[in-house]
Amino acid sequence: ALGQTVEWFRKALAVEPVKGNLRLSGYSACGQDGGVQLPHAYIEDGVANADLVLLVTTRPTTGNTLAWAVACERDQWGRAIAGHVNVAPRHLTAEAETLLSATLIHEVMHVLGFDPHAFTHFRDERKRRRDQVTVQALDEKLGRMVTRVVLPRVVMHSRHHYGAFSQNFSGLELEDGGGRGTSGSHWEKRLLMNEIMTGSVDTRSVVSKMTLALLEDSGWYQANYSMAEHLDWGRNQGTEFAISPCNSWKGAYRCNTTQLSGCTYNREAEGYCPIVSYSGDLPKWAQYFPQANKGGQSSLADYCTYFVAYSDGSCTDVNSARAPDRMLGEVRGSNSRCMASTLVRTGFVRGSMTQGNGCYQHRCTNNSLEVAVDGVWKSCPESGGPVQFPGFNGGFCCLWCIKSSSVL
Ligand SMILES: [Zn+2]
Repeated sequence: ALGQTVEWFRKALAVEPVKGNLRLSGYSACGQDGGVQLPHAYIEDGVANADLVLLVTTRPTTGNTLAWAVACERDQWGRAIAGHVNVAPRHLTAEAETLLSATLIHEVMHVLGFDPHAFTHFRDERKRRRDQVTVQALDEKLGRMVTRVVLPRVVMHSRHHYGAFSQNFSGLELEDGGGRGTSGSHWEKRLLMNEIMTGSVDTRSVVSKMTLALLEDSGWYQANYSMAEHLDWGRNQGTEFAISPCNSWKGAYRCNTTQLSGCTYNREAEGYCPIVSYSGDLPKWAQYFPQANKGGQSSLADYCTYFVAYSDGSCTDVNSARAPDRMLGEVRGSNSRCMASTLVRTGFVRGSMTQGNGCYQHRCTNNSLEVAVDGVWKSCPESGGPVQFPGFNGGFCCLWCIKSSSVL
């Protein structure tokens, strides 16, 4: 996994090469938690063909921290030239290797510059210290203090991602939850969800252009944006999505107590709406329900409530999903998506499953969206009304298709 991580960064970032050997002072042990003593040879002779030395340990961690990382030496421009990455041993035994790879990339990003300590060393094009990396202010809409990254490339790529071209979008929010070690050094989970630099790493993490942009705006690296992956969350949702509390979000990004099941935001799975009753009241700004102690399950995601995929609810991944319901005309597979539906084969009634949705095949032809049941393709009406099929009662609505067909 370490080799893969090195390979990934070699492709994703370019740095002005160090001339000769990389000299390290080794003045004190490098890193946290006692750190690591640099080998003598690294200090006396330096390291050939290197721009950064990473010391990797597998020491136990406290709490639910899986890994952490710090930079411990910087060059004259403030760029990290040595860092300490620690991964908890229990994390190494995890069967999910993709999770470990994601964790390593995440931690190395911290060493390279995704860290408030590093922000103070960031440079502009002319290698002058930047005077503004983040802006902290009391946000009236959100009702709390917010820290936003206002770096030029970060703002530009965020605008493109969210479709947030209004003046009201001034920068990309950093995480405020999670306590020391998390808050301020990650993207806000409410806004970037499964992005690799949010405060919790999931199995389907993606590296977005915003993260590469932040590293490029450090003035130390050139980013290869073709290494960025597609982040679905928030895409083309507009300025309001990026600057408003989540109880004003629209459609598939939001669920409430009355919806037992629904489609996840990207329509790739059927999901449920997890709402937790906490023992104490949530902070004022996170009280989206009449009951002050009710909210979503993630404090990092600001207690927002959104549909979370059932473990067997994928519309696209046939291996992990339950069998499609033939009575409802469902088909699962890579071109299937979750849609709100009342469809049922004639002569049958929809079961007690109260499920108002299902997985149906879709395709885009000539800029219009088509859906299929039992091999019969029909185009979704522009007006958004329900589509009906021979041999079935009810129908399903694909208003969402027209709006988001460019996304799929
Ligand atoms: Zn982190």
